[in-house]
Amino acid sequence: MQLPFDNSYARLPERFFTRLVPEPVSAPGPIRVNRPLAEFLGIDADWLASSDGTEVIAGNRVPEGADPIATVYAGHQFGSWNPQLGDGRALLLGEVIGADGKRYDIQLKGSGRTPYSRMGDGRAPLGPVIREYVVSEAMFALGIPTTRSLAAVTTGDEVYREGALPGGVLARVASSHIRFGTFQFFSSRQDHEALQLLVDHSIERHYPESADSDNRALALLQHVVAQQAALVARWQLVGFIHGVMNTDNMLISGETIDYGPCAFMDDFNAETVYSSIDHGGRYAYQNQPGIAHWNLACFAQTLLPLLDSDDNAAVELAQSTIDRFPELFLDAHQVGMGQKLGLTLAGDEDEALVQDLLSVMSQTGSDFTLTFRALTDRVGNDPGASTVADIFQLSELFNPWLERWEKRAARETEFPGNRRESMLRANPVFIPRNHLVEEAIRAAEDDGDFSVFERLVERLAKPFDFDPADARYALPPAPEQIVHQTFCGT
Ligand code: AMP
Ligand code: MG
Repeated sequence: MQLPFDNSYARLPERFFTRLVPEPVSAPGPIRVNRPLAEFLGIDADWLASSDGTEVIAGNRVPEGADPIATVYAGHQFGSWNPQLGDGRALLLGEVIGADGKRYDIQLKGSGRTPYSRMGDGRAPLGPVIREYVVSEAMFALGIPTTRSLAAVTTGDEVYREGALPGGVLARVASSHIRFGTFQFFSSRQDHEALQLLVDHSIERHYPESADSDNRALALLQHVVAQQAALVARWQLVGFIHGVMNTDNMLISGETIDYGPCAFMDDFNAETVYSSIDHGGRYAYQNQPGIAHWNLACFAQTLLPLLDSDDNAAVELAQSTIDRFPELFLDAHQVGMGQKLGLTLAGDEDEALVQDLLSVMSQTGSDFTLTFRALTDRVGNDPGASTVADIFQLSELFNPWLERWEKRAARETEFPGNRRESMLRANPVFIPRNHLVEEAIRAAEDDGDFSVFERLVERLAKPFDFDPADARYALPPAPEQIVHQTFCGT
C-alpha cells in the first residue's frame, strides 16, 4: 500500500520544522482503525488494520512518500509566553487529499522525542490516546470542526508518569496543524519573510476564496476571527470545556485541537473547570469566549508588519478586526441557542429567556445535555418517538420558565422547517461523558480490554438518535462515578 502523500508544509523553508523519523517501539499492536475516515483519505482500511499498517502508525516503518517532520511553534501557555515549543511528541508524516478535494495532515502523536521535546519523553500513555480518539470523533459526529482520529495502536513499551503506564500512538488527522503559535514563533523572531510565507500557505490551504485579496494578512485575520467565534459558540452550546486554550493549541483552520484535559459538563455550572493544572480557572467554561478573544489578539499582533507598512494603520486594522469577535460570537451563540430551543431568537426579551433558562439549570444543577433533550421531547407529537423521560425529569422549578418558553413558541412565525426535527438535530443525547471516557481508559490501561472503548466510539457516532437500550450512555454519572479532574496527555 502506498499512501498518496503530497507534502506541502515540508516544502516550506527548513526553519519551519526539523526532518526526522519516528523512534521505533518494541511491540506495536492494533487498537482501532477509523475505517470511514481511512477510505475518505484514500487509504485502504484493511491495509491500515494489517500488521504493516500498525507498524506505520507505531512509527516502526516510514511509508513511501512520507516526509516526516516535527514542526516548530511558540505560544502563550496559561497566559505566559513560551518562545520555543514545537512538536515534542508528534511527527507530521505528510499530507493527503481527501474525497472532498481538501488537504489533510496525517500526524503521529506519541512517536518519540524530537528537538522540541524539552524535558519530555516524546511518548503518550494509552489513556490520553483513548481520550483523544473518543472525544475528537464524538465532536466530529456532533458536527463541530475538529481534528480527527485515524487509528490508534499500542507500543508494547511503558511510559513513566506517576507510575508506569502502557504506551500508545494516535494517528491524528487535521486540515493543518498551523497554530496561532506558529505565527507567534516567527513574529517573535521578526522573521517577516516566514510570516508572509505562512500567510500565503494558510490562505491557499484554508481560505482560497481570499487568494486574490490585496491584503492577504487582513483576509486571513478576518477568517480566523470568524472561525474562532463560530467554533467557541459550538463548544458552549454542547457544554464542551477545552481545558487548555493556549495559543499553541488554537488552529488557524478553526478546528478544535488538543484533547488533553478536556471534558463535557454534566450538570450545568458556568464556572466548571476539569483540568488538574488549571488552578486559577483561566479556562473555565464561562471564560472560553473571552480567552478566544484574547488569543486572537495575540494572533493579530503577529500579522502587524504585514497588515500595513504604517504601524498605526496596521494596529487600527488589527484592532477593528478582532473587535468584531464579541458580536460574531454572540450572533453564532444566539443562532445555535435558537436551534436548541426551536425559536428564532432576537432582541432583549429572548436573550433574557435564554439567560433565565441557564440560571434555572444552574440553580437546580440540571444536566446540561439532558435538559435540552427533555425540552426537545416536549415539542411535536410523534407518539412512536423514544423520549428521555425514563432517565431524566426536569425539576418543577422549571415550570414558570417552561410556560414562558411555550408562550413565546406559540408566537413563533419565522422558525424554518419542522421544529421538533430541528431541535433533535441541535440537542445531542449521547456525549462523551467523563465517567464513560474514564471507564474506557481504565479497561484499556488496566486490563488491555479495548471493547469498552470500541462500544463507546460506536455509540457516540450517532449522538442525536436516542435508543433506550443504550440509556446507560446517556445517563449522567452516579455520585460515585463523577470525575472531578482530567489530566493532560503529558
Ligand atoms: P500540550 O500541553 O499538549 O499542548 O503540549 C505543550 C508542549 O509540550 C508541546 O510543545 C508538546 O509537544 C510538548 N509536550 C507535551 N507532552 C510531551 C511529551 N511527553 N514529550 C515531549 N514533549 C511534550
Ligand atoms: Mg498542544
